[in-house]
Amino acid sequence: MQGTDKPSRPRHAVASSVTARKINRDILLRAIHLHQPVSRADLARLTGLQPSTVSVITGQLIDEGWVLPGALGRLPRGRRPTYMSLNDRHVTLAIDLRPGKANLAVVDINGKLLGRETVFYELRAGSTADEARTAIAHITQAAHALKAAFGDRVFQGLGVSVSGRVDQKTHRLLFSPNAPWGQIDLHEELQKVLETPIEMENAANACLFSERWFGSFYDAFNMLVVSVSEGIGAGMLVDGSVVRGRDDMAGEFGHMTLEESGPACGCGNTGCWEVFASNRAGLRYYHELAPESPITTFQELLNLALAGDLRALRSIDKMMAYLARGLAMLVAGLSPEVIIIVGDCTALWPRIKPLLESQLIARSFTPHTPRVAAAMDGDAARLRGAAALVFHKVLFGQADFAPGHDRGGLHAKAEPEPVHA
Ligand SMILES: [Zn+2]
Repeated sequence: MQGTDKPSRPRHAVASSVTARKINRDILLRAIHLHQPVSRADLARLTGLQPSTVSVITGQLIDEGWVLPGALGRLPRGRRPTYMSLNDRHVTLAIDLRPGKANLAVVDINGKLLGRETVFYELRAGSTADEARTAIAHITQAAHALKAAFGDRVFQGLGVSVSGRVDQKTHRLLFSPNAPWGQIDLHEELQKVLETPIEMENAANACLFSERWFGSFYDAFNMLVVSVSEGIGAGMLVDGSVVRGRDDMAGEFGHMTLEESGPACGCGNTGCWEVFASNRAGLRYYHELAPESPITTFQELLNLALAGDLRALRSIDKMMAYLARGLAMLVAGLSPEVIIIVGDCTALWPRIKPLLESQLIARSFTPHTPRVAAAMDGDAARLRGAAALVFHKVLFGQADFAPGHDRGGLHAKAEPEPVHA
């Protein structure tokens, strides 16, 4: 590095120069991601960085292949600017593991799903290790085929979204009462066959990454993502940081006790939030109203509700009333700006959004209630999230949104000295 051998320069100046360069690189990457296609002049204006710094760092990013210099723009006079974008040749494999199926996709760095595949399996909580391995074999086979179909792209790794919590150090699945993977080391089994770096995360946390990377809430600092499926889990962004808690277990609000006399839960307790507000609860309410009905899946219940079936609509309304009860506790405790709901129930969003909002307003004790939004596209949110985990790690070298890497440059770091390549 230039100048480090000058005796008069204090050591910390070198360190802070390296740190500044890393921070500025991250800021420029974020700004290109958010504002692409974007010129160097606009990047300087958006980030507050010196034009010379922008030139040096974007030059490096172009050399590294992350950024593509695109079309020349037009100005009334002077040099024509080059508009830069993230290079969408970079892709990841994404797998979203659900109890009865795995969704797979190839996702590019801009969140575009290039190819999709679904693998179905007969697995449930309590399945044996061999049954789980057979399912994994089918999934990895489909993953290989997808990868081969996009052989001209640069694969950066595999992102996996699971229900349950994942220890980010050991990659072990720690808690997954509704998932069938407890008998095997999921990360190792996938790694063995696919031989690629793997980022594995809880589905709600993955969706949080999806919203920050590809969604409308890229600048939210306090965001809750609540995943409603077979169970209920949450991902939390608090003051700009992903909250993980001890052993990465934070976010299991689905197991808050709502009513002790309630039905038994997979976690061993009774009356948890998720036995009242998950998809299974919705289905249970429907069977209470329509014991003669043969339907067995939440999707069937949704179809009935979408067709206007009164008992189906009442079941969903009851499920949403319970969902709102739990959400109100989260709002009181965490004060989010926005709550994003992920799940099949969002197919009925025009009906359930006002139900949730009115309940939150009724229970609010401050003038502000958070916005409630549906994840931008249901199933695909988990896949995009799995991909975002990988891109975030590869580009920023961390599994978090540390303050200072946000908002595409509003936190640009003042440089202690000009930064040279
Ligand atoms: Zn529970």
